[in-house]
Amino acid sequence: MSAIRFNALQETLNRTPRPIEDTVRRSELFAQNVFNKQTMLQYMTREAYDSVMNAIEFGTKIDRKIADQIAVSMKDWALSKGATHYTHWFQPLTGATAEKHDAFFEVTEEGYVIERFDGGQLVQQEPDASSFPNGGIRNTFEARGYTAWDPTSPAFIYGTTLCIPTVFVAYTGEALDNKAPLLRALQAIDDAATDVCKYFDKNVTKVNATLGWEQEYFLIDKALAASRPDIMMTGRTLLGHSSAKGQQLDDHYFGSIPTRILNFMRDLEQESILLGIPVKTRHNEVAPNQFELAPIFEEANLAVDHNSLLMDLMEKVAQRHQFKVLFHEKPFKGINGSGKHNNWSLSTNTGVNLLSPGKTPMKNLQFLTFFVNTIKAVCEYEELIRASVASASNDHRLGANEAPPAVISVFIGTQLSQVLDELENVTKGKLSPKEKTDLKLNIVGKIPEILLDNTDRNRTSPFAFTGNKFELRAVGSWSNCAGPMTVLNTIIAKQLKDFKQEVDVLVETKKLKKDEAIFNVLREYIKESKKIRFEGDGHGEAWEKEADKRGLSNNKTTPEALKAKISKKTIALFEEMEVMNKVEVEARHEIELEEYTKRIQIESRVLGDISRNHVIPTAIQYQNTLIENVKGLKEIFTNDFEQYATEQLDLIKRISNHISEINSKIEKMTNERKSANKLNGQKNADAYCYKVKPFFEEIRYHVDKLELLVDDNLWPLTKYRELLFAK
Ligand code: ADP
Ligand code: MG
Repeated sequence: MSAIRFNALQETLNRTPRPIEDTVRRSELFAQNVFNKQTMLQYMTREAYDSVMNAIEFGTKIDRKIADQIAVSMKDWALSKGATHYTHWFQPLTGATAEKHDAFFEVTEEGYVIERFDGGQLVQQEPDASSFPNGGIRNTFEARGYTAWDPTSPAFIYGTTLCIPTVFVAYTGEALDNKAPLLRALQAIDDAATDVCKYFDKNVTKVNATLGWEQEYFLIDKALAASRPDIMMTGRTLLGHSSAKGQQLDDHYFGSIPTRILNFMRDLEQESILLGIPVKTRHNEVAPNQFELAPIFEEANLAVDHNSLLMDLMEKVAQRHQFKVLFHEKPFKGINGSGKHNNWSLSTNTGVNLLSPGKTPMKNLQFLTFFVNTIKAVCEYEELIRASVASASNDHRLGANEAPPAVISVFIGTQLSQVLDELENVTKGKLSPKEKTDLKLNIVGKIPEILLDNTDRNRTSPFAFTGNKFELRAVGSWSNCAGPMTVLNTIIAKQLKDFKQEVDVLVETKKLKKDEAIFNVLREYIKESKKIRFEGDGHGEAWEKEADKRGLSNNKTTPEALKAKISKKTIALFEEMEVMNKVEVEARHEIELEEYTKRIQIESRVLGDISRNHVIPTAIQYQNTLIENVKGLKEIFTNDFEQYATEQLDLIKRISNHISEINSKIEKMTNERKSANKLNGQKNADAYCYKVKPFFEEIRYHVDKLELLVDDNLWPLTKYRELLFAK
């Protein structure tokens, strides 16, 4: 084994796990570093507190005097916790989080040294944002960006910094981040869903979208990861032959968690708990060294913030435990990838989960209304949903040989399928008294019983109903949930808005009873959205063919998928629902295309470097040993030396062969890159996708073959078996 690999492994094995003490109950630690309602009450005047609550509940503005009061309370609390700095914490379009720290520390005009923080600093800040991607928005408007406090997500202390969750917008009002459109989408679904709820319960005045994400990730020893330039630069292995043992024994899933990993998890959970992230579940995943963490679900905006915060936290805690966490959707070839399931539902201020059937037929009709409208919305905008989860790294799951496929479909289980099939036959127009009773007793009335024993689950479906929520499984483990959540909530808001209009028309013009009208509209929706429902195996060609016949999209690559983000239909949707205007939509598309191109470009360069600087020299070194050996054999067995050197000669030839293949393919790939770089936007991304990227697998094939031929002592790259099984 090479010295670099040996040292790295040695370091791993010598490491003693860092024990974590769970002496204090989690319920006592929960949210201690969060400026939540209880803490606000403790530190704020009643007036200031009420003003924040109104801002959260009704979106009312907080006036400057009150903002000053709030800022002082926040500062007092933060100082009492040992904070020295504050930052506006925001989510730029790079998908990560961004922050610029300022000290509270200040020298006054009188020359006194104090800690200061006022309303102006709380409500509005100008980060130097010229280097965040903005898709041309700020050039167009020649305006600068500013961050503004989002009171719906509480401030928290991270290390010694008070972090204030903010939106990031241009002075002209265009959103420059992931959060502003999400907040608008959540407002849209609140308005639309509340209106529909009023058919069933007049007391409903607010509907929150809820999100419970499940984060998958890999943990790799830090020293081993550092020995792989591809992992460090791209987040995945671009090379590496599969190890003899992979995941075929299924011995990792739900197996016992190794001590060193468990120590990391406990540390991470403790930090999360202090920050008010309600982490609940942890377990091994299917692949070796793959794990999952899931919290209790929360209001969607908060859940999105918590996921971003958690990902940040994971990297920091992993450092402490000498691990590197990999969020890439497919870090290892031939090994299961990672996703981030987004469990989604709607919940009223009266405490009702709208995707959970109730105790009475009327409550069940409410459930059916939201259930069918969701399916209809997904059917109408399936291509946009696919686009919302598109990224260079997620392309290794969607559209590659991994669940879920790139075709978006909805799974609801056989029992609920039967219910919808029956509802499809509801009479058009007025219903007879017998039909009404029949519907109530035999169809709608039976739903809760059905759901109780509805255990059939489909693991390959990208959008599945799982008892009392839908689960969007196509989201990538590396992505920010804000994108898909903005799309999902917007399309369902639009759908509910249309539904309400159609029902109202039937009630007013056709003089139908309210529930008759609802049944009539639902019947049509069920028919119209039939093509999106699929209960079978999402893997493989059969479904792709069937999906094609049904007219569903199957966009396998990001450049292809992203087109749906700037279609007329999409722009009309976002403008109608007041989530984004055309400029904002187009700016995002531009940024995402560019990000795609850059990622493939980096992978291509790294692959070229490793192959030329690490792999080929090593292969030549080994080949020279073989050549020396053959020369020696020739000296000893002058006449019949070939008889003793057959294997060596064959190896020498094979190595030469692989080296020349690698070299010529890198040459060709580099030329394709040069041509691609002359193009812009869509054409640039297409060139990287269809001209540059195909070389990756071709080059890898030869490098991986060399890995099997070359002396293990010389091989410079840490191998799969070491990356995946070192604990
Ligand atoms: P699994 O899908 O792994 O079997 P569960 O069904 O218990 O597990 O829940 C998975 C995730 O769904 C959890 O993270 C949970 O927080 C989330 N979840 C449960 N109910 C809701 C809801 N009403 N809205 C959003 N997320 C939810
Ligand atoms: Mg799940």
